[in-house]
Amino acid sequence: MRVYNFSAGPAVLPEDVLKKAASELLEYGESGQSVMEMSHRSKEYEAIIGAAESLLREVMSIPDNYKVLFLQGGASLQFAMVPLNLMRKNRKADFVVTGQWATKAYKEAKRFGEAVCVASSKDKTFSYIPTLDKAKFSDDADYFHICLNNTIYGTRFSSLPDTGDIPLVADVSSSILSEPIDVSRFGLLYAGAQKNMGPAGLTVVIIREDLIPEFADDSDVPTMLQYKTHSDNGSMFNTPPTYGIYILKLVLEWVKSLGGLPAMKELNEKKAALLYDFLDNSKLFKATVAGADRSLMNVPFITGSDELDAKFVKEAKAAGFVNLKGHRSVGGMRASIYNAMPIDGVAKLVQLMSKFEGENA
Ligand SMILES: *Cc1c(COP(=O)(O)O)cnc(C)c1O
Repeated sequence: MRVYNFSAGPAVLPEDVLKKAASELLEYGESGQSVMEMSHRSKEYEAIIGAAESLLREVMSIPDNYKVLFLQGGASLQFAMVPLNLMRKNRKADFVVTGQWATKAYKEAKRFGEAVCVASSKDKTFSYIPTLDKAKFSDDADYFHICLNNTIYGTRFSSLPDTGDIPLVADVSSSILSEPIDVSRFGLLYAGAQKNMGPAGLTVVIIREDLIPEFADDSDVPTMLQYKTHSDNGSMFNTPPTYGIYILKLVLEWVKSLGGLPAMKELNEKKAALLYDFLDNSKLFKATVAGADRSLMNVPFITGSDELDAKFVKEAKAAGFVNLKGHRSVGGMRASIYNAMPIDGVAKLVQLMSKFEGENA
C-alpha cells in the first residue's frame, strides 16, 4: 500500500507518472529496450530529451534567450558553478541569507571572490524573510543570489528584490513548477530535481544566454563546470542523467494535463491553506512561520513539547503518513506538500492532527 509521503526530498511523485514509467520500464515504445538501457545519442532518446526541454519551456514560459541545461551534481554543485561562471567581472556578489541552503551558497561563493551578505534572518532561526534595504546592495556585484523557497524553514520570497541591471540568481529547488514564475526577472535559476520535478540525480539550470561566459583554453575552470560546455552541446557533452530527464518529461506532461502552473498554484494554495488554517486555530499545534513569507511547499510546525512531537510523528507513521519529522536544525514536524501530494493527503493529515489534538491537548 502506498503511504502519504511528506518528505522534503527526494519526494513524492505523481502516481500517474510512476504508473506510466512502470508500463514503459521494460520496453519504451517500439524500441525494444528500457530508457535506462538506451544510448543517449539514439533517435529515441533525442526525442525524449527534446520533449523534456520543450515542455519545460512551454510550462514555465521560458523566453528564447534563455538556455535550459540538464546537469548533475545537485543544487549543491551550483553553489560553486554559479560563482565560477558568473563572479568574474568584479569578483563580487550579494547574498540574502535566509536558511541553511542560502548559507551554503553564500559560503561556497567566498571561495571565488567577495560574497556580501546584504540581509539575514539567522537571528530568529530563519523563520522570516528579512526586509531588504536597497542601500545595502553592492552596485558592482556580478549577481545577486536568493533562495526563493527555504525548504528547511518553510519561508519563501513573496516578492522579488529589485536588483536593477544586476542579474538575480535563485535557487528554486523546492519551488520550481509550484506556481508561475517570471523567468525574465532572473539571470539564472537552478534546481535539484528531487523536490518537485523527478528523481535525484538531475539538476536543471535556466540561464540567460548573455551570462554564459567564454573561458580561455588554458583556463583553470574544469570543462564540466563551464556552463558553455553544456550549452554548446545540448546537455550532451557527456552522458546526461537519462532516466531522470525521462521522468521529468512525464512529470511535465502531468503538470500540463492538469492545466499548467496556474492550476498548480491554485491547487498548492488550497493545500497550504488547509494546513495553515488548521494550525492557526489549533490548541496544540502551531506553525513556526507567520505572515506572507509562509511557504506553499514546506510547512514546519510544532506542539511545543519534544515528547508530543515525537509521539505525533510515530502515530502518524503508523497511520501511513510518513516523513513528517522536522529537519534536525528546527525540530518538530514538517509537512512538505509538493505538487504531487494530493489534496486528499493534506485533508487526511489535518484530520489526524485534529484527532491527536483531541487526545493530547
Ligand atoms: C534540497 C535543496 C538543496 C540541495 O540540493 P542537492 O540537489 O541535494 O544538492 C539546495 N537548495 C534547496 C533550496 C533545497 O531544497
